[in-house]
Amino acid sequence: MTRTTPARPVAVEAVFPELAAYRGRTTRLHPRPGRPGRHDSHVGGPMLWPIDEPWPVCREPHASETEGYAPKEIRAARAAGVWPRSRPWPGAGGPGEGGPTPFVGLAQFFGRDVPGLAAGPGGADLVQLFRCPRTHGRYLEREYLLRWRPAAQTERADRFLPAAPEVPLLRWEHELPEPCVVHPEEVDTYPWAEDDTLPAALIARIDAWDDAQTAAGGRYALNYQGALSIPPGWRVGGYPSWASTGPLDIA
Ligand SMILES: [Zn+2]
Repeated sequence: MTRTTPARPVAVEAVFPELAAYRGRTTRLHPRPGRPGRHDSHVGGPMLWPIDEPWPVCREPHASETEGYAPKEIRAARAAGVWPRSRPWPGAGGPGEGGPTPFVGLAQFFGRDVPGLAAGPGGADLVQLFRCPRTHGRYLEREYLLRWRPAAQTERADRFLPAAPEVPLLRWEHELPEPCVVHPEEVDTYPWAEDDTLPAALIARIDAWDDAQTAAGGRYALNYQGALSIPPGWRVGGYPSWASTGPLDIA
């Protein structure tokens, strides 16, 4: 299936010609529920994981939890269109409660499918993304893991892990990824206008233009930051959005 992004409602470079020098490309993934296999690029599907390699485990200290959701019950509830029930966290507050935890596989992408995927270490062209299902520290920080592989060499493994180890409980039901196939699409993108991502004078003009749009069209009017700079949704490559660049002092 081909998914395409409509043209922007405003020709960005006609309004801000200087932005032409900052035009980038990003790959929108358009994940949709499906049944991806381990040889596919996907979100939430099975990883291409040689069976003789240990599954990654997070050994950082984990915050204590009181309740969570069992993956099996989350899947059953989703199939039935209802919310899953939470369960008491086993051993909550007891010794060892914050012990090692298997990472949860979130997504894997092959360079052959995703043009925006830069080559990894040693030219690796398959990346696998994991998140620890537990939280860390007083700000509930998250631990992510990237596993880069050479796809062709990995494909030659004799056998693959049939299923990832499943964590007993997840803190939040929405953190169990739904298996999705992806429909990559390359589109233009421009930097989020903030701090030093663009020249200060250009950011000031963009801010003034956004203010004028709001003054004329109300709070839901078109603006550069929300509608013209960075496409929404899952994507690879391009520019980071504010959500991943905003300041947070965790010292
Ligand atoms: Zn962890």
